[in-house]
Amino acid sequence: MARKVLVLGEIREGALRNVSFEAIAAAKTVAEGGEVVGVLLSDRASDFAQEIIAYGADRVILVEDEKLKTYTSDGFGQAILQILDTEKPEGIIMGHTALGKDLAPKVAAKMESGLISDATAVEVTGDQVVFTRPIYSGKAFEKNSIPDGIVFATIRPNNIAALEKDGTRTGEVSSFNAEIKDLRTIIKEIVRKTSEGVDLSEAKVIVAGGRGVKSANGFKVLQDLANTLGGAVGASRGACDADYCDYSLQIGQTGKVVTPDLYIACGISGAIQHLAGMSNSKVIVAINKDPEANIFQVADYGIVGDLFEVVPLLTEEIKKS
Ligand code: FAD
Repeated sequence: MARKVLVLGEIREGALRNVSFEAIAAAKTVAEGGEVVGVLLSDRASDFAQEIIAYGADRVILVEDEKLKTYTSDGFGQAILQILDTEKPEGIIMGHTALGKDLAPKVAAKMESGLISDATAVEVTGDQVVFTRPIYSGKAFEKNSIPDGIVFATIRPNNIAALEKDGTRTGEVSSFNAEIKDLRTIIKEIVRKTSEGVDLSEAKVIVAGGRGVKSANGFKVLQDLANTLGGAVGASRGACDADYCDYSLQIGQTGKVVTPDLYIACGISGAIQHLAGMSNSKVIVAINKDPEANIFQVADYGIVGDLFEVVPLLTEEIKKS
């Protein structure tokens, strides 16, 4: 059954987030040959229209408004609901990011529709679009579909492969005049706690440190390895609680859920709450001086040793190659 599917392109710090392209790939599956429509909400949405098309959108709707310069659930909610009212799509896909987690339930509630959140795969079986999503902190997966009404899902970054970028693709780009009013929140300034760098939730490589790193200074060896691999640094809650790093780096049940291609856990014991945030990573390497550490249960490769010896050696070897 051919469907029209809307995809919210997420713009952050002057660039489209990768999960937007992964959402287009998911939307292609849901659309079953129908139309995939990219939606861009920003003060300078038009800058990103061609890129959304290059990744597979057939058409792009832009809402350019100063009030959409930074995300607010009020502003984005109003714009998207007005677009949905006009377009009447059969599906809508967003990234399961901080923005998607906030916006999607609000939009679903206003539309009185279902929502499948944090999907890691999508397939079509007969008439039903079936999403796979992790449950019980990633220990099991369930398959879910919305039997009636709009197919609405958020997808976890780094799980559904984006389509190959094709700069020769063309598509219609149109402006939508959304009425955005009575905003209850106005963002005046964003003060960043962490340095700029690779976004943790979209990083292909993460070097994470735990209490075994012993100090904020100790994280420098992890940062070196992460820089060498083009990755990001993450942390266990143990490390955050000990004030070795900022809570924005925390991975786990009460932190970020990540699925990089490579996760290097250094001085992390592997508590169940930490595993909930990283055990679905594609390849896990654990470095721990305790051979009995629980992290080795989920590791593909384990190195028993002192991280302050092992990590610099790894960095040195990788730099040579
Ligand atoms: P530890 O358990 O102290 O482990 C340190 C490890 O470092 C040890 O295995 C040790 O052998 C190793 N080590 C020490 N020195 C070295 C060295 N030089 N070289 C190599 N290895 C070394 N935790 C999270 O991470 N994320 C969460 O989101 C989270 N949410 C939680 C929610 C709740 C409700 C609760 C109750 C707990 C939560 N926790 C979470 C905490 C979790 O239970 C653990 O306490 C925490 O993950 C432990 O952090 P750690 O592995 O860094 O520290």
